[in-house]
Amino acid sequence: MNRTKIILDEKDIPTQWYNIMADMPTLPKPPLHPATHKPVGPDDLAAIFPMALIEQEVTQERWIKIPDEVLDVYALWRPTPLYRAHRLEKALATPAKIYYKYEGVSPAGSHKTNTSIPQAFYNKQAGIRRIATETGAGQWGAAMSLAGAFFGLEVTVYMVKVSYNQKPYRRISMETWGASVHSSPSNLTNSGRAILEKDPDSPGSLGIAISEAVEDAATHSDTNYALGSVLNHVLLHQTVIGLELKKQLEIAGDYPDIIIASCGGGSNLGGVSFPFLYDKIHGKNVRVIAVEPQSCPTLTKGEFRYDFGDTAGLTPLLMMYTLGHDFVPPGIHAGGLRYHADSSLVSQLTHDGLIEARAYHQTEVFSAALLFSKSEGIIPAPESSHAIKCAIDEALLAKEEGKERTIVFNLSGHGYLDLAAYADFLDGKISDCAYPADKIKEALSRLPVID
Ligand SMILES: *Cc1c(COP(=O)(O)O)cnc(C)c1O
Repeated sequence: MNRTKIILDEKDIPTQWYNIMADMPTLPKPPLHPATHKPVGPDDLAAIFPMALIEQEVTQERWIKIPDEVLDVYALWRPTPLYRAHRLEKALATPAKIYYKYEGVSPAGSHKTNTSIPQAFYNKQAGIRRIATETGAGQWGAAMSLAGAFFGLEVTVYMVKVSYNQKPYRRISMETWGASVHSSPSNLTNSGRAILEKDPDSPGSLGIAISEAVEDAATHSDTNYALGSVLNHVLLHQTVIGLELKKQLEIAGDYPDIIIASCGGGSNLGGVSFPFLYDKIHGKNVRVIAVEPQSCPTLTKGEFRYDFGDTAGLTPLLMMYTLGHDFVPPGIHAGGLRYHADSSLVSQLTHDGLIEARAYHQTEVFSAALLFSKSEGIIPAPESSHAIKCAIDEALLAKEEGKERTIVFNLSGHGYLDLAAYADFLDGKISDCAYPADKIKEALSRLPVID
């Protein structure tokens, strides 16, 4: 049957996360202490993370049990639906089959709840009272605020200034779930004040907001830090997406030729693709494509080396593709993709040729989002629309080549709180930012040298 929607039962929610560190051909180099440049130990991280998450950060166990308390919350919206994009296929007149896994059904509107829920659970279990975190477009802040409400944790969010001003409804959602939200750079931390002194009009960046949140957590004993992407345990939690997708495609009688996801720090990409990369590592033919903005082209134009995760240099050094920790990307509308680097796992897998990367400009991405909305109904998040643009291009290529092909992309979130960006696009007010080559070159020249 030519199904449109494949929905699993509550009993089909995965009960274990998949850890790709059990199978990847080369493990990422270890994180290094920001001052000594020696590998960090669990004790270095214990000031800001609970031990359960530190263990998940380093373990090479293939399967990690999902706690029942987490499954109970996942069940509010998981399993998420898989759709066959029949109408989009028709609009493109392509012989390719296009599927999308829809993570926008979570109450916070994106895939980020897949990790905010377990992070809140493990912190609560460890006796933590408050979480300090950062947010770009507001998706992670919303997911963490929701998780804080479920598990009785206070949440303080440092929100990148450009998004704080562009996306007031995300801030209001966070506040509705009980969080306190500050525009970053703020006057509340040394890191924030240092930036404001140099540039009072700084639009902010994820790197700056991370410095503020880490500083807040490190200087309060009852407070931990939580990160919405990049780290190994975050990508681990996101594998519920790919594990469900595998079952759904089995029901549809299909297997993907190409899996596509937008890539900011790499968490929805890792989540949707790692269970399939297991197959690829074991000989199966499947391509994985990471899609990023031309204005923040980490995988396509960055360097693979050690860098800080934040602007102030408070976090451990991670081995990853980076544009430089103090590079401030232009204020594009896909705020969730404005991170200067990528997850170590995704970086290593890209370096080893298991993941491909591609970059697009924001106007072509919005055009793709419009075609998708008119065909499939859902208005996608600007971040997710990068994956849509790539899926459309691949479907058109299949048409040109006269080949059938199964293309699956992750629709990481909805765009109903991003409508101001759509208004700007419809009014012709969105333009493409040129690739900031000089600024990136400068930022890369300031990277720490590791011998
Ligand atoms: C945060 C976000 C992204 C980018 O983050 P990743 O960690 O790369 O997944 C993509 N899409 C949406 C909807 C987001 O909220």
